[in-house]
Amino acid sequence: MNDCIFCQIAKNQAPAVKVLETPRVLAFLDIAPVHYGHTLVIPKDHFETLLDLPDELWLEMGQVSRRVAQALKRALFARGFNVGMNNFEAAGQVVFHAHLHVIPRFLSDGLHFFPQGRYQAGDMEKVGRLLRQAVEND
Ligand code: AMP
Ligand code: ZN
Repeated sequence: MNDCIFCQIAKNQAPAVKVLETPRVLAFLDIAPVHYGHTLVIPKDHFETLLDLPDELWLEMGQVSRRVAQALKRALFARGFNVGMNNFEAAGQVVFHAHLHVIPRFLSDGLHFFPQGRYQAGDMEKVGRLLRQAVEND
């Protein structure tokens, strides 16, 4: 996977400003930050999406994300943070090496993420039933 930019960063073959490193996970600054300190957390090995990640690696990414979030609060005085992940093209994934975004937030920073709507009558129950069946059968 030599053409994957995040694999290159993990192997020190491309530049990155590193924040935290464990044996299997790396956190580094996003080159186009939502706010200063916006950090990406990646597995050092190549997995495309959350659905490909082994459980223990997903756990370690979560642990690293939490340490990064704490650092954003302490060092950059973030008042909050978002942890997010884009999976597959339809969700806006651009780099197909799984990564978590840890984004520092500030009061009244004006960012709004997703517009929210309402269910039509009866649809919420139907959707819940479909999803329960799907998780039972996986
Ligand atoms: P997405 O796949 O939509 O989650 O977005 C990929 C993210 O990676 C974007 O926020 C980019 O700014 C960031 N990015 C892409 N290339 C680099 C790089 N070489 N170093 C740091 N961040 C990067
Ligand atoms: Zn990769």
